[in-house]
Amino acid sequence: MRIRRLKLSGFKSFVEPAELRIEPGLTGVVGPNGCGKSNLLEAIRWVMGESSPKSMRGGGMEDVIFAGTAGRPPRAFAEVVLQADTAPREDGTREELEVVRRIERGAGSAYRINGRDVRAKDVALTFADAATGAHSPALVSQGRIAAVIAAKPAERRAMLEEAAGIAGLHVRRKDAEQK
Ligand code: ATP
Ligand code: MG
Repeated sequence: MRIRRLKLSGFKSFVEPAELRIEPGLTGVVGPNGCGKSNLLEAIRWVMGESSPKSMRGGGMEDVIFAGTAGRPPRAFAEVVLQADTAPREDGTREELEVVRRIERGAGSAYRINGRDVRAKDVALTFADAATGAHSPALVSQGRIAAVIAAKPAERRAMLEEAAGIAGLHVRRKDAEQK
């Protein structure tokens, strides 16, 4: 999967609508301390279905909504749009994918894939099948390198399974076991 574009509105420090184009290859984000570099990476994880407020450096899920500053009122919602191309099929063609996650104060999160309302689970499956997602080892945030070195064997196996693209199978097995 190739992420092409990211749009943020009311997400953490990105209070005004912002749009970023992500070119093929390695992408680096640079800027002074506190300018929002980590927030950007968190936006990608969040739209992919991240469900742990702690890993978004918050106490609750609504903490991703712009909280306001001395001169700016807080926002009522946060929205992140991720546009990507799926991995190429046998014939080399790719499909366009647009995933939207939106959270409103008091109303929780809602997801859309290509304009259709979907469940969080559908989003998780879409990314797990593409060997990516909120826990993808391709998203390297602060402290992650040290975490890989210190990880227990089972945790390291989970990282390898993500990278190998079989994490989606575990999600489906868990789902089947619950039925
Ligand atoms: P560093 O180089 O120190 O790692 P960084 O570029 O990664 O910095 P971030 O951690 O992404 O910076 O951004 C931190 C900023 O985002 C802080 O100024 C913080 O106040 C702001 N911020 C985070 N959540 C919110 C929120 N919900 N509302 C408003 N501002 C927020
Ligand atoms: Mg940071």
